[in-house]
Formats: sequence, C-alpha cells, structure tokens
Amino acid sequence: MIFGDYECHALDLGEFWVDGGAMFGIIPKLEWQSQMVVDDSNRVRLKTRSLLIQGNDRNIIVDTGFGNKLPQELLFYYGIENNPIDMNLILSGFELDVHHITDVILTHLHLDHTGGSTVKVGNTVEPTFPNAQYYVQTEQWEQACNPHERDVDCFIADDFMPLSSHNQLQLIDGSITLFEGIELMASYGHTVAQQHVVVKGRDQSLFFCADLVPTSAHIPVSWHMAYDNKPLDLFPEKDYFLRKAVRENWILFFEHDPNIAAATVKEGPKWIQFDREVEF
Ligand SMILES: [Zn+2]
Repeated sequence: MIFGDYECHALDLGEFWVDGGAMFGIIPKLEWQSQMVVDDSNRVRLKTRSLLIQGNDRNIIVDTGFGNKLPQELLFYYGIENNPIDMNLILSGFELDVHHITDVILTHLHLDHTGGSTVKVGNTVEPTFPNAQYYVQTEQWEQACNPHERDVDCFIADDFMPLSSHNQLQLIDGSITLFEGIELMASYGHTVAQQHVVVKGRDQSLFFCADLVPTSAHIPVSWHMAYDNKPLDLFPEKDYFLRKAVRENWILFFEHDPNIAAATVKEGPKWIQFDREVEF
C-alpha cells in the first residue's frame, strides 16, 4: 500500500504460540476463545509481522521478529517451527538484501520485536543489517539495559547491545518526525517508551500498533495483555490513539494478529471498535 512518498509491505517473519491468559489479561477465555486458535497447552497462535517502508531512497524495516539466535528450549517454549528465518530470502521478494536496509525502527526491545536485529557470526553477534541505523527510544534502551525483574526474560542483551558497540544505534526522545512523512509516537502502558510509527498519506495514514494493539482482537480498550506493565496508564493512552485513528483515518497495522495484517476502526457504543480488514 502507498502512503505519501512511501510504499509499505508486510513482512511475514513466522508464527509463535503464547499463553492465552497472558495475551488477554482480565478477559475470560469464554470471551476470547472464539477469536483465536488455541492449542492443548492453552496457547494462542500469533504472528511476527514486520513492516517494510520504501521511498525517498530509504528501505526502512519496523521491528525484526525473534530472529535466529533463540536456544532450542525457547523455540520449543514459543512453539516456533519455521526457524531459522532467512531475511535475505524474504527481502529478495522486493529485490533487496540485508545490505540495502537503511533504517531499522525498533518499537521496543522485547525479544519478539528485536531478536532479528542481530545475527551470530562465528563466536560474535553483529547487526543483521550492516548499513542501517537502528532507532530506539532512550528510556526503552535504559529499561532494556537494566530490566525490572517482572520482564527481565523479555530482554536479551545480544539482541541489542551489538547495535551500540557497532555505532549503529540512534536514541530518540519522545515523539518526533523521523523523516518527512514518517513520525514516531511514544506510549508507556505496555513498556516504557514503546514507539509507534505513523506513515503519513494524504487521505489515510498507516499506524504500526506493535504491542499497544497486538491483534485485531485487542482493539477494545479493556482487552489488553497481562504483559502490559502499566495497565491503568494503558487505558487512556490506548483510547487516545484509537480515537485519533478514527479522526485521522488511520489504518492500524497488527504485528501479532495471526490472520489480519491491517484494519480500520470506528466509533462504538463505548469504545472504539473494529471496522473492516484492509488487504495488505
Ligand atoms: Zn512487548
């Protein structure tokens, strides 16, 4: 899809499985089970879906999935089967390889969003995209480097420390215009300083939800994850972004929805609600 000067494509980086209770927090299974595929361990099927943004001589990737460094026990834990991921093969569909990526925007540094940012080369770990600048919010970087015990398992230093040691890290403070037509907006309910990407079009813009709205089932404000660190802050924040989405005609891009890559939203009786799927 085209937004302003940019052509945007979904990149399918594979599937994984996560506990359904953790994905839906206070919402009972009786309510969410009809919307998800559930396995015998009560895990729900999710995707890691990244975004490729091309235009103005840039090839930008938003988030990088789990990558190829997970040990066997974590591959098993997350039910990941199609690993390793061949990023060059995925990019070859766009006549690109990892050397052509100019910028990598990381919404946050949880392992399912940034694991693919680095690769093992012999005994060392190096940035996957050797010519790219990687963008992370300063507060998120600090959180990842000194994680709270609550989400310490979500941060793996090898996923992001090499970005700093190879001088490919750019720290961002709050909401900014990164490039003409591409804005970053920070949120704090899921993790401190998660950043969302808005690709601005004339009539319609694209909003990369990341873990603010991980799947289309999470559009109702109270349907949020037990993983969210500050649920009471998340409510007004999510409501703000979703109302802005209706007002400004945004298409929401879902990183983890197993089936629906993108959708629009509309006013509902209480909260903003799902409107229609958008082919991506
Ligand atoms: Zn997360």
